[in-house]
Amino acid sequence: MGKSKRARGRRERAGLAAAGVGASPVLRQLEVDDTTRKLLGPDVLERVWDNLWPVDCQTCGRPLGSERPALYVVDLLVRASASLHHRACRAPEWSKQPRLAGAGHLSWKTNTLMLFGVSSTGERDDRPLMVVNPNLEQVTLAATETGWDVATVPDFRRLGLRTPRRDFIVDAPVAGAQARIHRAEVSVRLEGWIDAWTGTATREVQDRIHELGGLIVGVTTAANPDDMTRYEQLFSLIDSGELLFGWIPLAPGTEDRQPLDTLTVPDSVASYLLHWGERHASIAQVLAITDHTLGESQVFDWATAQLFSEATPRWPVEWRRVGEDPAAWYLLDPLAARFYFVRRHDDGWKLLKVLARISGDGFATEREAREWAEQAVRTRTNQRVFDWSPADGTGLPGSTLKGVAG
Ligand SMILES: [Zn+2]
Repeated sequence: MGKSKRARGRRERAGLAAAGVGASPVLRQLEVDDTTRKLLGPDVLERVWDNLWPVDCQTCGRPLGSERPALYVVDLLVRASASLHHRACRAPEWSKQPRLAGAGHLSWKTNTLMLFGVSSTGERDDRPLMVVNPNLEQVTLAATETGWDVATVPDFRRLGLRTPRRDFIVDAPVAGAQARIHRAEVSVRLEGWIDAWTGTATREVQDRIHELGGLIVGVTTAANPDDMTRYEQLFSLIDSGELLFGWIPLAPGTEDRQPLDTLTVPDSVASYLLHWGERHASIAQVLAITDHTLGESQVFDWATAQLFSEATPRWPVEWRRVGEDPAAWYLLDPLAARFYFVRRHDDGWKLLKVLARISGDGFATEREAREWAEQAVRTRTNQRVFDWSPADGTGLPGSTLKGVAG
């Protein structure tokens, strides 16, 4: 009896999934008609929703407020655009004969900030970054072999923007793009894009743009720049491939600058790496990351320069091999009683400030390792780890997690 009940339950669920209901939590937040639901399917519909931000109604231009917006799709055969509207202004529909091109109501948002960076020679090399969401309430779709998919990333690639490496290297200016500064306002224009994006910048950021002769623009439709308050969000957007970067030269009289080699994490939030196995464990703050192709001696020079950029220490700086790890070296700062690692991870060399370390013993479970690490972060830094995620490992067997604390 229990069996038949369960079988029926499963059939019902299968039926619901086939109709596209229940499979997509998006439908609780977005009004979607049956045709759109069938043509997109739950996965693409979710991606569409991930790239839409309900700010203004694309029919009347007034704020969408907290009501569930309607998705209106204009199908132009190989391309389509999906936009958000008040339910009362426009019913949800997949339309092959659009009634009105609702131009002029699209919102864009920018957030101009400073990326904390360090050059390969060890000097501070911060880079100004304008994060832009160029169209909040509308997303472009392209026809694929199997249906439709979100096309914003390929579209921005065509404008000359590129996926940055995790160290934010941006090595070529975007052809035809220009930035201007007027008073506290920075504006960026890309060739082939209708709007110029503007935003206010702090004095420090403006000075740096002048000094460098340009800035980085980071374009995404998968985030609202207003919500970009954590550094970590940039990393996860890059990892997901949803954030594209370009170097925008300041007009006129642009200077060529060296590409950004390295990036350190900022002061406001800190990243920690927990690396553990059954015979070892360490929890350390990530101070800087650099290219994993550097050789050992270059890495020691780089790490030493990072740590002692202000004054050369009066004690011998000697990087010593960490016994059990084939690609890790440590340095003990005897005056500050601090302990550093340079360690090669699959995604690059990391300079780490060690908070706690166990050798010859370790942890059997991730939970135990995390508890130990969280305690160490709390007592040593007064910060609380609020996010753990898997991280690239090292030559040493074991697991690596990245923790973000603030
Ligand atoms: Zn409206």
